[in-house]
Amino acid sequence: MTLKLYNTLTRQKKVFKPIDASNVRMYACGPTVYDFAHIGNARPVIVFDVLYRLLRHIYGAASVRYVRNITDVDDKINARAAQEHPDLPLNEAIAKVTSETTRQFHKDVAALGVLPPDVEPTCTGHIPQMVDMIEVLIEKGHAYEAERHVLLDVASIASYGELSRRSLDEMIAGARVEVAPYKKNPADSVLWKPSEDLQPGWPSPWGRGRPGWHIECSAMAKEHLGEVFDIHGGGIDLVFPHHENEIAQSRSAHGTKVMANVWMHNGFLQVEGHKMSKSLGNFVTIHDLLRTDNFGGRKWPGEVLKLAMLMTHYRQPIDWTQRRLAEAEEILNRWYRYVENTLPDDEGSPSLIQQGSQLYNDLDTPGTIQQLIAKARTSAAMDFSYEQRVNFRSSANILGLLQYSTEEWFRRGVEQGQDVAEIERLIAVRSTARAEKNWPEADRIRDQLDAMGIQLLDSKNPETGQIETTWEVKR
Ligand code: AMP
Ligand code: ZN
Repeated sequence: MTLKLYNTLTRQKKVFKPIDASNVRMYACGPTVYDFAHIGNARPVIVFDVLYRLLRHIYGAASVRYVRNITDVDDKINARAAQEHPDLPLNEAIAKVTSETTRQFHKDVAALGVLPPDVEPTCTGHIPQMVDMIEVLIEKGHAYEAERHVLLDVASIASYGELSRRSLDEMIAGARVEVAPYKKNPADSVLWKPSEDLQPGWPSPWGRGRPGWHIECSAMAKEHLGEVFDIHGGGIDLVFPHHENEIAQSRSAHGTKVMANVWMHNGFLQVEGHKMSKSLGNFVTIHDLLRTDNFGGRKWPGEVLKLAMLMTHYRQPIDWTQRRLAEAEEILNRWYRYVENTLPDDEGSPSLIQQGSQLYNDLDTPGTIQQLIAKARTSAAMDFSYEQRVNFRSSANILGLLQYSTEEWFRRGVEQGQDVAEIERLIAVRSTARAEKNWPEADRIRDQLDAMGIQLLDSKNPETGQIETTWEVKR
């Protein structure tokens, strides 16, 4: 199969060859669970879901293993826990923050309609593996203990900087790494650090402490994917220092030439032209978009969000706007009309996504979407077969789209965007008005619903002779 992927490590796009086609292995860095996931965090989740689906399509679902971790040991979590639950002992406060945030993350990504990874390891569940790996690094002369810390000795690793392609001096200047008296070199990163009595900590040969962020992923990836695996992904901001250090640690500990063969990074997302930040007030969470009306005055279905995201190639930056969401929704409405009367579990073949098509070219989702748009447009005017439409649905499924029936989709749009209880209440008032033969009032309510985008369908129940009213969203 000619799937081509761009590799940050080589700065080249090359044909992807798995190490073992019956066990294709991919790791993506997951969220640090201290706050609601924002729309930028949704980008790697969506991008690597498309890759996961495509790999499953090519190699078979049972031959692909996708690991996405939960970072539940991090000083940002500790700070948030202390701030949010000052009344609780710190360990309880932390457990509360991490479990609630993880639950929220799961809800958010489920609403986005992405597949769960095969394994979702947590840092707290892999501390012994981290300690083991640090011991190996010390033994091999790539790490040292100083003042109850253990540090990665970057000068001892000749390939350090191979991913970010920066010199040590540039790294120190650019990343504002913490200078500490116990470091041999300011760029040496923390593998282990001591914990105060109240801070979370685990026993280790260097005293009670906790791991640094980078070693967490090295240890979890090794545990679930082995010393060398196929693809490692995350947002572009992770290239340095996070992934540079993951590579240095894993290669040095295992004595391997690479940690993963292909490194993939998604571009950054900004909102209405600005970097997302709480102080600018343009910080958009996934939860906000899907469940509240804080962005554009309405709720958006998960597939709209996903299509809006995939309309830009994953390596490009995205400017997240309401206009883009509205455009994505328009496209999906058209597609759902096109596949009307086919069902999500109809067996089709994704005939629009095959060897040589855009998606195989480094996940060219904008090209694939254009192709789908063109297909739905030309075919809609002609006679098109059931099979064609089922195949269209299967093709869109590889992008994680068209997962509902057409009926569910249009209902869902309403349920997310409007108040169903209010619609049903107005219909009941209208029925009463009709029963009282108050036709002007009944018509007024029909017009009111019409203005809300709701169409009423009156039909006579043949058994009771009563007029029954159902509704649907105007298309
Ligand atoms: P974090 O929880 O900050 O470690 O981030 C989780 C994932 O989201 C990482 O892969 C980040 O690179 C990615 N990410 C964070 N912010 C953005 C953004 N604004 N645009 C795209 N990806 C992002
Ligand atoms: Zn990571």
